[in-house]
Amino acid sequence: MFADRAKIYVKSGKGGDGHVSFRREKYVPNGGPDGGDGGHGGSVIFEVDEGLNTLTDFRHIRKYAAQNGEEGGKKNCRGKNGQDIIIKVPAGTVIKEAESGKVITDMSGDNKRVVLLTGGRGGNGNQHYATSTMQAPKYAQPGQPAKELELLLELKVIADVGLVGFPNVGKSTFLSRVTNARPKIANYHFTTLNPNLGVVDLDDAKGFVIADIPGLIEGASEGIGLGHEFLRHIERTKLMIHIVDAASTEGRDPIEDIYAINKELELYNPEIASRPQVIAANKIDMIYEGDESPVDKIKKEFEPKGIKVFPISAVSGQGVKELLYYVSSLLDTLEDTPIIFEQEYFPELTLTDFDEPFTVTYDEEEDEYVVEGPKIEKMLGYTNLESEKGFVFFQNFLRDNGILEQLEALGIGEGDTVRMYGLSFDYYK
Ligand code: GDP
Ligand code: MG
Repeated sequence: MFADRAKIYVKSGKGGDGHVSFRREKYVPNGGPDGGDGGHGGSVIFEVDEGLNTLTDFRHIRKYAAQNGEEGGKKNCRGKNGQDIIIKVPAGTVIKEAESGKVITDMSGDNKRVVLLTGGRGGNGNQHYATSTMQAPKYAQPGQPAKELELLLELKVIADVGLVGFPNVGKSTFLSRVTNARPKIANYHFTTLNPNLGVVDLDDAKGFVIADIPGLIEGASEGIGLGHEFLRHIERTKLMIHIVDAASTEGRDPIEDIYAINKELELYNPEIASRPQVIAANKIDMIYEGDESPVDKIKKEFEPKGIKVFPISAVSGQGVKELLYYVSSLLDTLEDTPIIFEQEYFPELTLTDFDEPFTVTYDEEEDEYVVEGPKIEKMLGYTNLESEKGFVFFQNFLRDNGILEQLEALGIGEGDTVRMYGLSFDYYK
């Protein structure tokens, strides 16, 4: 079965404990401490494998654990580090924290390798704790604990153009005509379960990648039928070719169909619905001479709204070239940055046990409030305050960790300055 979604469980290795031991040598009655350090636990690492294009493997293996670090030994022997676990995923996989659905990382573009969870540090052996007053320390540091996380992997294909439309309007036929892809074509609904990708090559114009978004039907945005599963793939496309059966071979009204699909897109994600569209009025080889040409009707309805309509036949190839060159030129006018999902969940921040995560104090001399500590440092390292999402995350972090509460307890007022590692903010409720 094709899988574009999988839930897995990952765990980093625990750091090995430090060891407590003392030198034993002939003629030396009380040898000094010689307990070795524990080895570091292995990390959980994700890597893009260009040869993969589904998440099927994750249906069979659901648990992925890195090795624990070994305990330290006698004679200052350091424990062995635990082995990392490397998990291979297809390009375009978005990794989310399963419970909240928040994005941890998006394995696309240049992001080909990510250390998702670092292994626990090994603990110090007792050799580190000898002092002038304590020559025989019986304490060694325990290794840092393992971290575990349930993840949701979602494969969101990367294509410039998405093909949308009701079942049987000719999406797969179109894709196989214009690209190297060989999708299944059949005259019944829901045949295409995989989102098929194909590359369009053009003479004297820039080619592009098309994805056939299968199973888009009314009610898809509510998760009815298969549609919802596949709407995900549309998220990264920059424009959509909206295919309709202009000949109404199944008795459908093409204009109503376009509105129905756009309504589903709108419900799923208004931003996607607002991306540029082109209408391919398909199956014109089946249109009989009649009163008013259905293509003219579609044009009259949508061209005033800025949506170009191209009459085509995916079977005969008529009109297809014009459509492709128009799409290529339209893509040229659109921003060339790939759509990448931003990080919203920070495993190291959430799962690390800090001894003293942060302090909130008032610096009288500067008349500023100071927030600092390892957790703050880490958070600032992860957060892009320039981006809107990053700033919202930052604000939520201050609230969720009780920092705002502590600032208020110290008597902070409107417009007062808060300092964090060289950054200054004005405080407003
Ligand atoms: P999809 O469900 O949108 O992917 O539709 P398919 O590509 O599987 O096509 C459904 C049916 O419509 C098949 O029987 C195709 O042969 C037929 N079809 C597709 N495009 C055309 C066309 O331009 N003209 C005609 N006459 N039939 C077409
Ligand atoms: Mg199809």
